[in-house]
Amino acid sequence: MKKITIAIDGFSSTGKSTLAKQLAKHLGYVYVDTGAMYRAVTFYAMQNAYVSEDHLDKESLIKALPTIDLQFHFNEKLGFAEMYLNGTNVENEIRTLDVSRCVSQVAEVSEVRAKLVASQQNMGKNKAIVMDGRDIGTVVFPDAELKIFMNSSAQTRAERRYNELIEKGQHVTYDEVLENVQERDYIDTHREDSPLVKADDAIEINNSTLNKEEQFDLVLKLVEERV
Ligand code: C5P
Repeated sequence: MKKITIAIDGFSSTGKSTLAKQLAKHLGYVYVDTGAMYRAVTFYAMQNAYVSEDHLDKESLIKALPTIDLQFHFNEKLGFAEMYLNGTNVENEIRTLDVSRCVSQVAEVSEVRAKLVASQQNMGKNKAIVMDGRDIGTVVFPDAELKIFMNSSAQTRAERRYNELIEKGQHVTYDEVLENVQERDYIDTHREDSPLVKADDAIEINNSTLNKEEQFDLVLKLVEERV
């Protein structure tokens, strides 16, 4: 069967990673969560005080970029790859609301994007990959055989993210999660370098109305048409 590249883009907490993981597992493809890479760079920048909610020391961050090593290691038990920053598993640390509050500022820096995009293109050079993010179908793999663009209301997405954070034992309120989702939507769609936009040839899925199984079946049909 022909191997293809599947690009899944969209707003935060639209269920991109759930769909991408389901597809990768079903097809035996590699799954890459590019948001985890931007989150890991942000976590590093927070640890070094290069970024906080209202400040970004862009120059120091750019200088430090060559010292930031990002690796994905597949966790057999969990069934997906976890993010390692300079040799340490940071999977839990990067998923906090604190990181979410700083990540879109870091993701605006072109030098950060150039480093991560190059690494993402390298991971996908043999195809058989499902990658999710904001610029996969537009910048990372503009020639991807299948591009999906996911959306749903900010309220639905905030509810999903809030439940995930509460399940992980984090102390957050629904209102602050909603505020963060809306703020990231704004920065991600308005930044100069690689803003979040639907690629012309992407297929839009609004999952406010579809459940997980319906969504998976729909996308699997689209995959089958292409392989
Ligand atoms: O996907 P996730 O919500 O974890 O992504 C976190 C942030 O990383 C996004 O809000 C966005 O600012 C940034 N990002 C990006 N480009 C990508 C993936 C994520 O700018 N390809």
